[in-house]
Amino acid sequence: MQTSGAPTRPNVAVRPGLATVGVLVGTFAPFAVTGLAYAAVDARFAVGVPILPVLVGLFALRAFNGFAVSAVLHRWGAHAGVWLWPPLRDALRIWAWLWTGLGVRTWAAVHRRHHAEPDGPDALFTPSGPRGFLAIGPMTLRTHWEAIRDPEPWARFVRDLPDDALERFIRGEERRLFGILGIRVPLLVGLHVLPWMLVAPPATAALLGVCTLPATVGAVTSGAVWLVNGLGHTAGWRPHATPDTSTNIARIDVWLMGEGLHNNHHARPADPNFAHAPGEFDPTYAALRVLEAVGAARLERRAG
Ligand SMILES: [Zn+2]
Ligand SMILES: [Zn+2]
Repeated sequence: MQTSGAPTRPNVAVRPGLATVGVLVGTFAPFAVTGLAYAAVDARFAVGVPILPVLVGLFALRAFNGFAVSAVLHRWGAHAGVWLWPPLRDALRIWAWLWTGLGVRTWAAVHRRHHAEPDGPDALFTPSGPRGFLAIGPMTLRTHWEAIRDPEPWARFVRDLPDDALERFIRGEERRLFGILGIRVPLLVGLHVLPWMLVAPPATAALLGVCTLPATVGAVTSGAVWLVNGLGHTAGWRPHATPDTSTNIARIDVWLMGEGLHNNHHARPADPNFAHAPGEFDPTYAALRVLEAVGAARLERRAG
């Protein structure tokens, strides 16, 4: 593992095998848990819906969730790399909040601070710290909770971002323990249970809804927290000589919708395209180009 004294040579590979294994485990383990839990419920209650289309559908949902978070919280909110048609932008803000529990101001404040100090003793969350990789989850959670409980010290990072009615509503939900004590979690539970009520009685539908949680909420957590914040500063490839420990953990990043090209992103944070070289692919950028073609987005193609 690299330490806070990050190498600055370009084209360095850092434990590439670990990056590949980490991406595969972090991506598919939540789906394996859901698949096993679903099989157990199906064996007991004979739901009769084949597991494969269920998992494929959940993977597509995860991809859309990843797109929403990357497009609106990250590329629009934190880095102003894209303009989004306001109705689409606000729909994506609501969808991203539903899955992360965070509004754009909290998310962007923490993220901009991460860019300002990604490693070292004062980093908000870093796998190169004394507590190592496993602490990345609790550190990320604690940092966001601190920004929610006492937003004043963080306000200087987000003075350019909207503090509109939607943001104030989301902030209220954030303060209710990320929406656990608000309406967000009941809404999420409803989203997970209601579709199953078309094919199963309510008690079984509730069980099936719980089974899908690892592949939805768990996949968002494992992707954004463990893979990007953790593995993306631990192992992979460093095409850019950035003064930090950031790595690309996949070249064709269909797993994290482009966020896995993390070293590229640290090198050019305002660039809305995280793929910088032939052979790299950033699905969120590709989707934003489609939206641009129909007038719903405008990419700020900056190199900085
Ligand atoms: Zn980073
Ligand atoms: Zn960023």
